[in-house]
Amino acid sequence: MPKQKWGVGEPRRTFRGSHGILACDSPRIDTGNLKSVAMEAMLSDINMLVQCHPHRSDRNALDPRVVEAIRKVPRHAFVGLRLQNEAYGNYPLPIEYEQTISQPYIVAVMVDLLDIGEEDTILEIGTGCGYQTAILAELAGTVCTVEIIRPLALQAKERLRGLGYTDIEFRIDDGYAGWEDYALFDGIIVTAAAASIPAPLVQQLTPGGRLVMPCVVKGEDQNLIVLEKECTGSAHVQTIFSVRFVPLTRGRPRGF
Ligand code: SAH
Repeated sequence: MPKQKWGVGEPRRTFRGSHGILACDSPRIDTGNLKSVAMEAMLSDINMLVQCHPHRSDRNALDPRVVEAIRKVPRHAFVGLRLQNEAYGNYPLPIEYEQTISQPYIVAVMVDLLDIGEEDTILEIGTGCGYQTAILAELAGTVCTVEIIRPLALQAKERLRGLGYTDIEFRIDDGYAGWEDYALFDGIIVTAAAASIPAPLVQQLTPGGRLVMPCVVKGEDQNLIVLEKECTGSAHVQTIFSVRFVPLTRGRPRGF
């Protein structure tokens, strides 16, 4: 029997693509495998950044639980069709209504700073497309998420339910006031920049809990901060590094 030149029983085929003639061993493209290669490349980029710029004094690597949570969430399910090929790039991408899906590295750092336990209840302000919500849901017992733009919140809810996430509570409102009904929270994460730390969020944080958010320093300069609420009730604030987020808007939910 003649030796198969191109292996696995498939004839070698050529395709004329925009970059000339492409040759491949199989006409079938294993998209699952492509996704996992892109995901691992994204994770390795994140790990490298974490090692070069440690965001914690106790370690210079992400908690393995956080890495596993990121690995489980299909980022391509959260971006539009035209951005599918960029879904695993380590950079922010536009979503609808002039908002963004955060850079995976920043999502990883913010979630890692929260120190989420399996039974924890986490409040997220700024659901957006729901990507970070899914990662939080992989780690926590319950996630409560608030979004001020109605259609974004509704899309995120449908998407997350479709992906099988059931332990998420959704609210369409100005998240500045937190979510009294579910307080106290073990951790609070805000994905839009405010001029100062919202007092209701500190009140709704359990003693020993952490609040992670971007705060405006001056003009367009923002810092990522972590507020730790001591068991005595007093708070300790630490600055991590500078970031760039969309602004935390105030007022009634917007419908468009
Ligand atoms: N975590 C999101 C990032 C979304 S960008 C993701 O992974 O996609 C920030 C989001 O915060 C936007 O959707 C914006 O509409 C929302 N936002 C801004 N101000 C808000 C407020 N006061 N209350 C709730 N959500 C707010």
